[in-house]
Amino acid sequence: MSIDSVTPLNAGGWEAVIGLETHVELSTASKMFCGCRADIPEEPNTACCPVCLALPGALPVPNEQAIEGIVRIGTALGCEINETSLFYRKNYFYPDLPKNYQISQYTFPVAEHGALEIDVEGEPFTVGITRVHMEEDTGKSTHVGDGGGRIHDASHTLLDFNRAGVPLVEIVTEPDIRTPEQARAYGAELQRVVLALGVSDAKLEAGSMRFDANVSVRRPGEEFGTRTETKNVNSLRSLQRAVAFEIERQIAVLESGGTIVQETRHWNEDTGKTSSMRTKEESEDYRYFQDPDLLPLSVDETWRLRAVEALPELPGAARTRFRDAGVDPVNAETLLDNPALAALFTDAVAAGAPGRLVANWLTGEVIAQLRRDEVDVSDTSLSSSHLVELASMVDGGDLSSSAAKDVLTRAMAGEGTPRAIAEANDLLQVSDTGAIEEVVEQVLVDNPDALEKVRSGDMKPLGFLTGQVMRQMGGKADPKVVQQVLRAKTQGE
Ligand code: ADP
Ligand code: MG
Ligand code: ZN
Repeated sequence: MSIDSVTPLNAGGWEAVIGLETHVELSTASKMFCGCRADIPEEPNTACCPVCLALPGALPVPNEQAIEGIVRIGTALGCEINETSLFYRKNYFYPDLPKNYQISQYTFPVAEHGALEIDVEGEPFTVGITRVHMEEDTGKSTHVGDGGGRIHDASHTLLDFNRAGVPLVEIVTEPDIRTPEQARAYGAELQRVVLALGVSDAKLEAGSMRFDANVSVRRPGEEFGTRTETKNVNSLRSLQRAVAFEIERQIAVLESGGTIVQETRHWNEDTGKTSSMRTKEESEDYRYFQDPDLLPLSVDETWRLRAVEALPELPGAARTRFRDAGVDPVNAETLLDNPALAALFTDAVAAGAPGRLVANWLTGEVIAQLRRDEVDVSDTSLSSSHLVELASMVDGGDLSSSAAKDVLTRAMAGEGTPRAIAEANDLLQVSDTGAIEEVVEQVLVDNPDALEKVRSGDMKPLGFLTGQVMRQMGGKADPKVVQQVLRAKTQGE
């Protein structure tokens, strides 16, 4: 069994239990509790102030735009938004945390009890959302020296506090996930939700969205097993691989008579393995207590209702809309991940173009051309009206489907409207029955043997005859019309 195809029930009768914690950096103008810019400038320690550096006497003030962001995320995930929520101090020592505590939430988070419906290769699956809470990011440590960035062999460590205090939202799932594929599908869907809301750039490779994967295994029906938490997972592919690796590792440990230690593990992208980082701390270790510098946060009913009304179309609804328009499931996912193409699709379909055909073009020729030229669709001349015109030309028999693809790439390159391109390049198809009938009659006269066979019920020569007609017409006849005419002429007379 490959690492990418672990099923809910593994061959040895084990079941995996997975819960994901996702951190999303909000793209607010300023940090969570101070006025410093939150876009993390490259020059170290240029976006810091007494609040985010924890100088004595500095007091935090919550960022309303950040609270709006988390209320939007919680609402999109179907959570209850708490009227009153509380800020807590999560106490621990680390050099990149100047206060020696992180402002976070504990009891009464901003949002809880939600769900996200995901799609796993065409199958719907619901993941419970335990809570969505607000916290602040830490600074960044860079370990310098021979250790290749690891702390152990570093000669010294550099600290950059530009990220300290950037607003973070943590989204925690119930332990509902059972397979690496579901974990990945959840990560992808959550990323789409966040992008649709416009509250974060949700860039996994840049760390503005990151996953911690909690994994355990058990015999079905038994209590949950001991879990490990794997950190540093920064792509959807890594999420799937890290979970799959951890499942197989734990099964191997248990089957050889060992026990699983509750611990934090590190995902290594290069080796494709997880390794032990530290034994897991319990929440008691953090000595959580309510932050005396911050008042309870109040999100009143007006605000909650406004958040519901302001929701954009979410990916689940868009997926249903694409499929209802006849788009096949794989292409629907591609459109979901390409908002600019999805917008062209939506406009073209609204103007009457057939969804399936338009989606095939967008996810086929159009994406291929964009990749080849390394550009966005907005850099090309393609418009939804081109797609509408092209579809109606194919539908009306003026253009073969292969010629349509040629016209499409030319339209992207700015050669004009589909009709103008087809005319200029002599790509129009003849579907005028009269012209085709003339040629068909001549072909039948020239091929009496084939005609005889068809008349006596042997349909095999029909293909040959169609080919002859197409050739005489320079490939420009509509093959459907040619076949109709051929059938009529061979049966009728
Ligand atoms: P912590 O804050 O210590 O990480 P939580 O109780 O908030 O602990 O749980 C974190 C995540 O672990 C949640 O997503 C939850 O669903 C998941 N989880 C809890 N128990 C298990 C388990 N036995 N196996 C896998 N995941 C689990
Ligand atoms: Mg955790
Ligand atoms: Zn600051």
